Amino acid sequence: MADRRDFLKASLLGASTLALAGQAEATVSAAGKGDSGARVISTWDFGVAANQAAWAVLDKGGHALDAVEAGVMVPEADLKNHSVGRAGYPDRDGHVTLDASIMDADGSCGAVAALEHIAHPIQVARRVMENTPHVLLVGDGALQFALEQGFTKEELLTPQSEQAWKEWLKSAHYQPSINSEVRDYGKTGMPGGKDNHDTIGMLAIDANGRLAGACTTSGMAWKMRGRVGDSPIIGAGLYVDGEVGAATSTGVGEEVIRNAGSFLVVELMRQGRTPQQACQEAVMRIVKKRPNASKDLQVGFLAMNRHGEVGAFAIQPGFSYAVCDARRQDGLLPSKSAF
Ligand code: ASP
Repeated sequence: MADRRDFLKASLLGASTLALAGQAEATVSAAGKGDSGARVISTWDFGVAANQAAWAVLDKGGHALDAVEAGVMVPEADLKNHSVGRAGYPDRDGHVTLDASIMDADGSCGAVAALEHIAHPIQVARRVMENTPHVLLVGDGALQFALEQGFTKEELLTPQSEQAWKEWLKSAHYQPSINSEVRDYGKTGMPGGKDNHDTIGMLAIDANGRLAGACTTSGMAWKMRGRVGDSPIIGAGLYVDGEVGAATSTGVGEEVIRNAGSFLVVELMRQGRTPQQACQEAVMRIVKKRPNASKDLQVGFLAMNRHGEVGAFAIQPGFSYAVCDARRQDGLLPSKSAF
């Protein structure tokens, strides 16, 4: 946690070139003259490195879909990241189960949920999109499909993650209640609390104006076996409509699913809201419906419209998002919040 906070602080300071004062509304406007217009954004501090991998694709004139896939594979492979991919914290029974989704501007999409033993669930989600008539494969069926597609079965539980799980087991009084999980936010003031959940959600627009998005997570640490969050649910953790824009989410997935969060953000943009206004309105919908629970829980939305304009909003302070385009490679911006 200390590492993560230090990194966040350093990155925010390093982002001074972003003229943060001008970002008071946490918006990023369309690309400047002479830019290709390509841009990638993603959730949290680990989005900075992920964006750079996506940018390597966008900068060469590549497709937004290839960019977001390459981008989110960075945190999926990062052994220090315990909320995405390999080294993700396991469920309460010690199984690392991964959720991921990918979506293109034309509505094509694919997802996997509760997938075990495959290090890059985003790649399997893309294969679901491209090589099956379906949108979502789960559990053993998703694993079977991945193996048929040539992916390698691996142990994703690292010694550090196993150690953390065993520590949790010592005191674990499991309550399948959202409040037992989310109180950590309040204590630490950091979304992700004791680093028990976070997601990389990434949205990109390429030089041809094509939008795409990807979202991948190991979900809530110590979750019930079989629990699936918002990230692999199209319309909840991710939604893309090339005519309008794209949105993704992080935080307590149950709240995002209840409100079809990312779909809501895109539909609000369709009605004329800026990405910033749309994210804020979607967050406030959650707060309004559950005013008491909202005091302790975190949900953050990130959005990009078809012009490449960006917005973000969260329930609690502390949500940050990374921006990368022709003018900036390592920007990290703070989101505004309801509280
Ligand atoms: N949204 C993820 C989930 O509920 C976790 C997170 O982003 O913190 O699985």
